[in-house]
Amino acid sequence: MQFIETRGNDGSRAKNVNFSDAILNPSASFGGLYVPQSLPSVGIEFLEKHKNSHYKTLAADFLDSFNIDIDPQIIAQALSRYDNFDDPKNPVPLEQIEDNCFVSELYHGQTRAFKDMALQPFGYILSSLAQQRDEQYLIMAATSGDTGPATLETFKDQDNVKVVCLYPDGGTSDVQRLQMVTEEAKNLKVIGIKGNFDDTQSSLKSLLASEDFKQDLASRDIKLTAANSVNFGRIIFQIIYHIHSYLELVRNGSISLGDEIYLSVPSGNFGNALGGYYAKKAGLPIKKILIASNINNILTDWINSGEYDISHRELVLTQSPAMDILKSSNIERVMFDKFGATRTKELMESLDTNKKFSLSKEELQSLREDFDACYSDDQEGNRVIAHYANKGYIMDPHTATCIRAYQDLRKKDIPTIIYSTAQWTKFSTTVATALGYDAKDDLDALEWISKNRSLKVPAVIQGLFDKEVKHSIVVEQKSIKEEMLKFL
Ligand SMILES: *Cc1c(COP(=O)(O)O)cnc(C)c1O
Repeated sequence: MQFIETRGNDGSRAKNVNFSDAILNPSASFGGLYVPQSLPSVGIEFLEKHKNSHYKTLAADFLDSFNIDIDPQIIAQALSRYDNFDDPKNPVPLEQIEDNCFVSELYHGQTRAFKDMALQPFGYILSSLAQQRDEQYLIMAATSGDTGPATLETFKDQDNVKVVCLYPDGGTSDVQRLQMVTEEAKNLKVIGIKGNFDDTQSSLKSLLASEDFKQDLASRDIKLTAANSVNFGRIIFQIIYHIHSYLELVRNGSISLGDEIYLSVPSGNFGNALGGYYAKKAGLPIKKILIASNINNILTDWINSGEYDISHRELVLTQSPAMDILKSSNIERVMFDKFGATRTKELMESLDTNKKFSLSKEELQSLREDFDACYSDDQEGNRVIAHYANKGYIMDPHTATCIRAYQDLRKKDIPTIIYSTAQWTKFSTTVATALGYDAKDDLDALEWISKNRSLKVPAVIQGLFDKEVKHSIVVEQKSIKEEMLKFL
């Protein structure tokens, strides 16, 4: 399988690249992204074959049909990372919450957010490639809370890769901060930044763009790569759980093989939804993908009207911070797939210069064949959390945004899979508020909820509060580079 570029080729690099090159050097011509030239088939035959497959067996066969330039043994090792999930036999369990509504829980990995689903196997593959090539890589991540812990966790003690993770001091939950600052491994560095997430992200961007810094890295023989959701090495693992979740519905008798379903996806950078789109395109019987947002509802606008306009918008901080995004990176891959490279380049350049773009009527129609969208605010999220908690199911505030889509956007007789992207333990203060308790911090909220609802707090979360803090530095934006060079 070869990979091509969403904005076309600028002549300075190869027109087609292998999977390994696309993931080690994820930035493409004109600021575009890498995409596969075609997709393997996930038609009835494939589904029939895997009706009773273990998650890893399904994943290995899917990746095999993708024909990527990674040794099958390395793929097998990467997939064995799922053995560390709560239930090694089924890393992604499905729970029914309504007659026609099922929650696919993507958060059973170490950091309790769905980022582990892709970052765990991806991290193993990236480090193996770096070792094979005898190259040293640096990954720099700016995080608002979930990506940071999952990136640190996957690369800890892995050879030939170093990770520097920047987070806004005071801008994450207690649990998220502790997950980062208690990580102990020689190849990891965590730095708190005085400022908000935007400040953190822009200091990272300017550092990455600086010639001085590039020379600093070159003189140390270190190459830079990225582990964010624009890296196709993450996306490829995000196709698989959609197939698995569909087969779970077949296995529990809710549908017959071939029946159509809806997916409802709490979206930010659109990696999860893109995985669903690729699965649908490859043949998985999906009626539509319902995109759920919080009040940063730019995706709702885009899918309902074809207008993507952030010129008058300000990012609003919500209770579902992982979805507080205005520039959603992976919609570019959908547009490339539907409209081609020339048009994608035009639309994305308009977004960069004018902070907006509009689809034509035909383009919008094509988009709406696969997607529908809506949003809900924090008050509604709290009502949803309380409603389902009283029926015995506790969900996190990101998952809660999916319920409106389930209620409003689907044909009533078709089953829906809602994706749960984080466990309640990661956003316990918000969940406690929704249940009527004003917690003073995450620890208080965790204790109250677990007592009140007879739920167990997993050891990986509970243990954080007793772990030694290994990264206590918090610096001004201007001191980031100095701290990094000390580490390198
Ligand atoms: C990252 C994240 C999302 C958004 O996922 P995308 O793939 O970026 O759309 C939603 N919920 C949680 C909890 C997340 O960590």
